[in-house]
Amino acid sequence: MAAPLTDQEKRKQISIRGIVGVENVAEIKKGFNRHLHFTLVKDRNVATPRDYYFALAHTVRDHLVGRWIRTQQFYYETDPKRVYYLSLEFYMGRALQNTMINLGLQNACDESIYQLGLDMEDLEEMEEDAGLGNGGLGRLAACFLDSMATLGLAAYGYGIRYEYGIFNQRIKDGWQVEEADDWLRHGNPWEKARPEYMLPVHYYGRVEEPEEGSKWVDTQVVLAMPYDTPIPGYMNNTVNTMRLWSARAPNDFNLKDFNVGDYIQAVLDRNLAENISRVLYPNDNFFEGKELRLKQEYFVVAATLQDVIRRFKTSKMSSGGPLSFDTFPDKVAIQLNDTHPAMAIPELMRIFVDIEKLDWDTAWDITKRTFAYTNHTVLPEALERWPVELLETLLPRHLQIIYRINQAHLDHIASLFPEDLDRIRRMSLIEEDGGKRVNMAHLCIVGSHAVNGVAEIHSNIIKTDIFRDFSELEPDKFQNKTNGITPRRWLLLCNPGLADLIAEAIGEDYVKDLSQLQKLNEFVDDDAFIRDVSKVKQDNKLKFAQYLEKEYKVKINPASMFDVHVKRIHEYKRQLLNCLHIITMYNRIKKNPNAAFIPRTVIIGGKAAPGYHMAKMIIKLITSVADVVNNDPVVGNKLRVIYLENYRVSLAEKVIPATDLSEQISTAGTEASGTGNMKFMLNGALTIGTMDGANVEMAEEAGEENLFIFGMRVDDVAEMDKAGYDAMKYYKELPELKQVIDQIKSGFFSPRQPELFKEIIDMLFNHDRFKVFADFEDYIKCQERANVLYQDQKEWTKMVIKNIAASGKFSSDRTITDYATEIWGVEPTDLKIPPPSEPREAIEEAARALKL
Ligand SMILES: *Cc1c(COP(=O)(O)O)cnc(C)c1O
Repeated sequence: MAAPLTDQEKRKQISIRGIVGVENVAEIKKGFNRHLHFTLVKDRNVATPRDYYFALAHTVRDHLVGRWIRTQQFYYETDPKRVYYLSLEFYMGRALQNTMINLGLQNACDESIYQLGLDMEDLEEMEEDAGLGNGGLGRLAACFLDSMATLGLAAYGYGIRYEYGIFNQRIKDGWQVEEADDWLRHGNPWEKARPEYMLPVHYYGRVEEPEEGSKWVDTQVVLAMPYDTPIPGYMNNTVNTMRLWSARAPNDFNLKDFNVGDYIQAVLDRNLAENISRVLYPNDNFFEGKELRLKQEYFVVAATLQDVIRRFKTSKMSSGGPLSFDTFPDKVAIQLNDTHPAMAIPELMRIFVDIEKLDWDTAWDITKRTFAYTNHTVLPEALERWPVELLETLLPRHLQIIYRINQAHLDHIASLFPEDLDRIRRMSLIEEDGGKRVNMAHLCIVGSHAVNGVAEIHSNIIKTDIFRDFSELEPDKFQNKTNGITPRRWLLLCNPGLADLIAEAIGEDYVKDLSQLQKLNEFVDDDAFIRDVSKVKQDNKLKFAQYLEKEYKVKINPASMFDVHVKRIHEYKRQLLNCLHIITMYNRIKKNPNAAFIPRTVIIGGKAAPGYHMAKMIIKLITSVADVVNNDPVVGNKLRVIYLENYRVSLAEKVIPATDLSEQISTAGTEASGTGNMKFMLNGALTIGTMDGANVEMAEEAGEENLFIFGMRVDDVAEMDKAGYDAMKYYKELPELKQVIDQIKSGFFSPRQPELFKEIIDMLFNHDRFKVFADFEDYIKCQERANVLYQDQKEWTKMVIKNIAASGKFSSDRTITDYATEIWGVEPTDLKIPPPSEPREAIEEAARALKL
């Protein structure tokens, strides 16, 4: 038998990875050596693996530059409508391999690195993740940037260049410990600082009301310095821009008025201003009303809108003639990623009314036609409600504007529903119970022409539940845009074996049109194809097992079912339900050690928000259960439990292709969409899940019989809420559940601290908002069905193929096409930017332009 192909060899085989070409290889090797020498100032004797990474990164970057300049020039010349994606998070992960793939350079780079006697994967591992996000919301923004560039949209991502991204998670004694993510320590080859485009952002101060209109005065100024990162489209010569703002103190900071004489202290205090972009808030689906966070939200908004308006004013079409903002909504679409950038609505009104002197009604009409808002959650603890007091101090003019927007809005409601005081109260932008707060979702709905949810079920819930009054008022405003993922990173990059196999079967066009995966249905009964799909999965599992052994010294059984549950740790995502299943399996093995058992490796991973006590206890419970299970000789090779430390984008790329069974088990009605679910489906895992979020549409696409669906539906949950959820009932009725709970309670998994998990037990019985026990029985039965199928590898793999074939809908290219045509009023194009300039050609071109 032939030796299995190495990744190196696999990458060579197929042309989606680009042409090896002798010329390309020579050029890349030359670039690599030049950068090692001139940029890194090293020779091969002293160069470290990190130097080699940087040398390659700079070489690949050189291939972006000409395309980047040309794309931006092309946008200036043709002046299309621009799309601005405003987000407090961009969870980008690594850039090197993604850039090589999208430029078609991967094969040439692989060959070059090989010829230089280096290992590409070692080199890639040196890159820090750009972890400027928490989870799904931030990763969605990153997938959207890839798709917008691939679809040729004149789009920009705008956000904050956090100096520290999402913390690194270590597990010590089974507990989560956080470490600062100093991701810029060694420099970032993918960004270009643009100090020449620095802009001021104002805070605090007061409002003066002279004849000509309101004036915001006596403010404190912080400067916003842009850093641009190139976003290459897939094989279309387009390179868009992600512009992230970094906070800088003005050079006269604290030196003018008060601190005269204390120069040293004034310089030290520059940190106060620069702290604005210091660190990403590590909460997922949770609102923390801190002043610094509000400063961050306004920082990105204020800097971005100045940039947007400058670009509008200096555009080729509008310059020359008299300045008019009438065409603004024809030239600018701004998408708000959740309410985090909601202050953009009053900020644009402030610019129009106070600075550009538009009348209020005109300004409001233009503003509404410019913005669209995406809602990402219905969990009440996640909805932003900023105290009026805080806004009054930090952004006094904006608070006035919000009040005026609210006045007109409530007048309108009152004219339609004159007697309905409760409706007026419910729909107000200002909540009055307790301290006064601004409901930012209400502000976004009122200030946008479109509001969307992120999966069908979620969009229906926002229409009929949390935003019902608003959808009764303006039903046409409410839309659905089911989330998606980019097939470049989440298939070509992370699973080259599967990507190639698919390309051999149906050609390469599926990469840009994922609906073509349907063609795989013709191969469901093709024995050779079934074997190949199964082989790719086995190879991926083996590779992941080797990674775990090398990095963490843990050995797992690659012949076992890899049952994977990776996502942020949250009660609504119900990692606890999974944990109860693990203990149930353990008890069954102990009770009957000689019975047949389908071997499993349960892998759970994810970060808990540092302030989320219950989530941290859940991690400790899982690691404690793992300790018992993994060290019990009776269990042997049948069951292993792994807590996967520091789950992040680059680790998702490793574990997802190696997964057999994907856990998507949130309480129905709580997970807006999920995108992890889609990544697993595309990579040949089967889903065990509830009818929640995009799972519903996955089941619709693949057929419900091709997923392991269990548990309550949204209606069942609502009914149970009415009747009252009684956890004790399930405990009494289900002996296996009772045993599991009694064990946790008795300290079986924490013998030195028997009381350790009593808060979890108390929660499960007395205030479990997510009804873990109610789905226990059906979940266990569903897991047994998965076991039965897994015993028949051929039938299992057929179901995998049906799932991959049905996953085309979940490309973010489809999602972005829907946003473009149904919200932004722009058309995706196949149009190619003028042909690429190779680095050498580009220099000559620049020289010609400068008439050198
Ligand atoms: C996709 C992704 C998520 C979102 O996962 P869900 O299961 O949808 O919550 C979170 N973190 C990382 C690193 C991801 O890649």
